[in-house]
Amino acid sequence: MKLLEERIQKDGVVKAGGVLKVDSFLNHQMDVDLFDAMAEEWKRLFANRPINKILTIEASGIGIACIAARHFHVPVVFAKKAKSINIDGEVYATQIHSFTHGREYEVIVSRKYIGPEDHVLILDDFLANGCALEGLMSLVKDAGAVVEGVGIAIEKGFQRGGDRIRATGVQVESLAIVDSMDEKTGLIRFRTKE
Ligand code: 5GP
Repeated sequence: MKLLEERIQKDGVVKAGGVLKVDSFLNHQMDVDLFDAMAEEWKRLFANRPINKILTIEASGIGIACIAARHFHVPVVFAKKAKSINIDGEVYATQIHSFTHGREYEVIVSRKYIGPEDHVLILDDFLANGCALEGLMSLVKDAGAVVEGVGIAIEKGFQRGGDRIRATGVQVESLAIVDSMDEKTGLIRFRTKE
């Protein structure tokens, strides 16, 4: 998506260890008009899917998912990072390894908000090694629901999560795929769509 790629070029900052900082428009300060354009694009890409719920993960996914929900007209559920179980009733739970923090954490979703009747679009800000996404997909599977697709704002294509998950047959639509980035020069190259 041209608009997002241009914004990453303009305002993204390449950090050590393969981290791209996009705090000024995506995951600290949020450009809601940009989110709206991203949502429109996901709506177009998943037009044929019978999506009745959006699932994301706190915190950065929530803003993106809520704006997307204005286009899909479905509820948003976000997986909570749980230190202690502080949610009513029973939950689905899974462990996720954090790329940015280098540790394991548990995420939960209440059984009340996802079940066998659900056709889920998973949305998140970043896709790197794919651990966050695999965790969310396993929650959906545990609930007996269907993953209709995955929408990602920025995929780092040089980490292999996206390729691995696409190979399982899941429709993964990343709006910008970074194929390489150079910490010294700040140069960011995007994958061109075939
Ligand atoms: P994965 O589980 O795919 O390795 O990483 C996905 C999660 O890590 C995302 O939800 C995102 O919060 C975080 N993340 C991974 N890489 C980056 C990055 O380069 N920049 C930022 N800001 N977050 C990242």
